[in-house]
Amino acid sequence: MSIKIEDILSAQQIIKGVADNTPFIPSPYMTKYAGQEFLMKMEIMQPIGAFKLRGAMNAVASVPGDAAGVTCCSTGNHGRGVAFAAARLGLRAIVCMSSLVPQAKVEGIKALGAEVRIVGKSQDDALAESRRLVELEGLVEISPFDDPHVIAGQGTIGLEIINVRPDLHRLLVPLSGGGLAAGVAAAAKAVNPKVQVIGITMDRGAAMHHSILAGKPIEVEEVASLADSLGGGIELNNRLSFAMCRDLLDGIVLVSEEEIRDAMQVLYFEDRIIAEGASCVGLAAVLSGKVKAEGSTGTIITGRNLDMNIFTAIMSGQDVLLGERRLKGKLYGA
Ligand SMILES: *Cc1c(COP(=O)(O)O)cnc(C)c1O
Repeated sequence: MSIKIEDILSAQQIIKGVADNTPFIPSPYMTKYAGQEFLMKMEIMQPIGAFKLRGAMNAVASVPGDAAGVTCCSTGNHGRGVAFAAARLGLRAIVCMSSLVPQAKVEGIKALGAEVRIVGKSQDDALAESRRLVELEGLVEISPFDDPHVIAGQGTIGLEIINVRPDLHRLLVPLSGGGLAAGVAAAAKAVNPKVQVIGITMDRGAAMHHSILAGKPIEVEEVASLADSLGGGIELNNRLSFAMCRDLLDGIVLVSEEEIRDAMQVLYFEDRIIAEGASCVGLAAVLSGKVKAEGSTGTIITGRNLDMNIFTAIMSGQDVLLGERRLKGKLYGA
């Protein structure tokens, strides 16, 4: 099974007016730096501050009217997307979380209209509760990346990009579970088979990268990263996003925490844009020279839901603690 352009066109109709038409704008600094046009798809302008609303909207809209509601256990952008979409479509949403999730994230999801259920002390406990709601209460679980409607919804980004710039040479797509990269590659390549789509992720805990090398989904150790939205595995029983990323991507490039930090500074100090570390990996790949800009290059500024303490520390050149590791601070331009 794979997602086809027809699925993405149908998603485009379903999410119309709610999660669509973000600008695709040039970065003057990156264009000068790369010597090639460098464009950014501004998904930070979505109502929830991230692209995940596209997939969530399309998936929640497909839930049968007699279902008791929807559930998921993401505390990040997917949880926000599901909460917003369910409220919009008049469905009950229950987001399951462990007691270790920071209160700010709990409040953020509640503010979007979802119920929050706090269970246990790990992500696995939250997942078990979500599965229980599916089995005993008839809720429908929405996967953050391995769901046909979610992938088709994220694919609408690729369609919007390639419709305005059919001549684009290369697209650099932040990569985690691969729903975004799979959908975007399927859409863009259906319109222009020559466009290159490269997945970019952090070099620590790159689950999709190691799974593709191993030839099957594998587990990798999860490590704290500035690109926290790119953390997590791809699920050992992955049905869709693994095979699509393996078959459609022209490559995967890994960037370091230092390179992500530098890219966040460039985006802020040069283009005055505040975005998550996960949003900046495309810039990081070009700034580090790991990807050569050989023609018009695009990336997706995927989300802006970052911890402002971390943001201000990075911009003022302070060290940042990433789990056990201390990432040294650096003043921009120094
Ligand atoms: C989810 C997410 C990604 C990665 O998307 P996948 O479909 O999991 O590969 C990138 N950036 C942000 C901000 C996200 O929330």
